[in-house]
Amino acid sequence: MPDDDLLVLAPYIRIGVQDRTLFLGFGSIRQAVLDRKLWHPLVRLADHFRHGRTRAEALSFLRVTCDVDESTAQASLLMLEHGHCLIPARAYDPGDRYSRHSLFYTLSGASPEHVQARLEASHVVLIGCGGIGNLVAVTLATAGVGALTLVDADRVETSNLTRQFLFTEADVGSLKCEVLAREIGRRNSECRVRSLPVLVEDRAGLRGLPESDLILLSADSSGLTRLVNSHSVAAGQPWMNACYVNDVAVWGPLVVPGLTGCWDCRTLAASAPEEDPELAALIADVNARYQAPSNGPVNMLASSLAALDALRHLGGFGVPASLNRRMGVWSHELMLDGQSAQRALSCPTCSHVTHES
Ligand SMILES: [Zn+2]
Repeated sequence: MPDDDLLVLAPYIRIGVQDRTLFLGFGSIRQAVLDRKLWHPLVRLADHFRHGRTRAEALSFLRVTCDVDESTAQASLLMLEHGHCLIPARAYDPGDRYSRHSLFYTLSGASPEHVQARLEASHVVLIGCGGIGNLVAVTLATAGVGALTLVDADRVETSNLTRQFLFTEADVGSLKCEVLAREIGRRNSECRVRSLPVLVEDRAGLRGLPESDLILLSADSSGLTRLVNSHSVAAGQPWMNACYVNDVAVWGPLVVPGLTGCWDCRTLAASAPEEDPELAALIADVNARYQAPSNGPVNMLASSLAALDALRHLGGFGVPASLNRRMGVWSHELMLDGQSAQRALSCPTCSHVTHES
C-alpha cells in the first residue's frame, strides 16, 4: 500500500495479555509482544487507527501526542503492519453482503475485490447432490460463485434427511438437483443455477456436461473417479473429489491438469487384484453389498473443507490444502491424514499435459 494511503485497524484484530505476554491479533496472525515498553504505544496506536490515518500521521501521533521515542514509534507501527493488521480505510463495509468473507480474504493476504470478482466469474459443475453436494453447493453459492450446474438423477428419500440438510420431508420424491436449485435461489438469487437430472456414468455422460472452472465430484459411484479424472485431464479442466470413507471425511486431490498430480499419478485407493481374477470376482461380490454408514457431521467435515479449497482455487486466496494431496479427517480420533498425490512423470493419464493459464 502507498505511504499516503489512509489505513484503519482491521476489525479482526483483538489484543490480550496472557502469561505476561501481550498478544496482537489471534489465530494464525497472532504476534507475541514480549517487550513491555511496546505495550502502551502499540495499544494507543491500534486505537488511533479506529479512523483512517496515514503512516506519517500515526507516527506523529506517537511521537508528539504520546511522547514516544522514534525507534519505539517505528517498531510499534511495524508490528501493526505485520499480520495484515492494517487495511485500507473504507475497505470494510459491514452492510455489504460479502463483508465478513472480505475480511477473511484480507486476513489471508488477498484483495477482497479481486477474490470476489473471480468467484463471480466462476462456474462449478457439481456431480452428486447428496450430503456433500448439498453443503458444497450452498457454500459456493452464498460465497458468490457466479454459476453452478447441479448434476444428479436421484430423488429425495427419507433416509437422506440425516445429512442432506437442504431437503425437507415435503421434498421426499422430488428430484434432488431441482430441490437444491430452488433452495440455492432462495439464498443467493444472483447465482445462476442449472439443474441436470441425468445419471453420469460414462465418458459420453461426462462429455455432455457444460464447460466449467471446476468439477466437484461427490457421487457414490467409485468407478466414476477415474473417469472424471481422465475426462478432466484431457479437457484441461480442474476437478476435485469429496467423499467419506466410513468415518473418515475425505477431500482432494484438487487436480489442475498440467500443474498438479492427477488421480492416476499414484495409487490413492485400493482396487481388485488384476493378477488373480478369481479373488477379484469374490472381492467384487463382497463389495457389491457395501452400504456406506453415512453420517451428518462427517458429511459436513468433508464438504466444508472441500468447499474452502474450491473457494481458494477459484478466488485465488491462500493455498488449497488438497493441492497434490488427498486429505482426510479421521472423525473418531481427530487425526489429519494426507496421501501424496504429487505428479508422476510416468503417469499414463497426465504425463503429456502442459498447463494452460
Ligand atoms: Zn497423473
